[in-house]
Amino acid sequence: MKRIYAREEYCVGCRLCEIFCVVGHSKSKDIIKTYKKEEDRPAPRVVVWEKGPLSFAFQCRHCDQPVCVEACITGALSKNEEGAVLCNEDKCVGCWTCITVCPFGAIKRGDSEKKKIVKCDLCSGESEPFCVSHCPNRAIVFEERGVE
Ligand code: SF4
Ligand code: SF4
Repeated sequence: MKRIYAREEYCVGCRLCEIFCVVGHSKSKDIIKTYKKEEDRPAPRVVVWEKGPLSFAFQCRHCDQPVCVEACITGALSKNEEGAVLCNEDKCVGCWTCITVCPFGAIKRGDSEKKKIVKCDLCSGESEPFCVSHCPNRAIVFEERGVE
């Protein structure tokens, strides 16, 4: 399956990937409307890690055998036909079990009132994930590399 891979040698830590992840999951998918007009702005599913001159974008690895899917107590997490691990928000009860078991720390708590998790969905339905298509340096790519 296609996955997102970081190319840290090209990442400058600008965090545009985080911003466009938010835009990609907003109602309007327009950056001005998302940040100036929408009240319930979504959280980013990608996080930029930085230490000294090193920086890279990180998100869910969509594991072949995802422990989060096995551990989910309500069946809210599942893998789709393409291999993406997705969350059915209607089933998520905010127990945070998946957050505890994810070996990569790639699942985050969402808005405290909603008590739902937030995770990368590979921008299902888009030809390329928003973070990838908006990185100015191609420091993240979306491609097939075989078995991880
Ligand atoms: S948009 Fe690209 S260069 Fe900027 S922080 Fe994200 S991955 Fe790095
Ligand atoms: S693929 Fe989509 S959901 Fe995943 S981190 Fe990138 S923009 Fe966010």
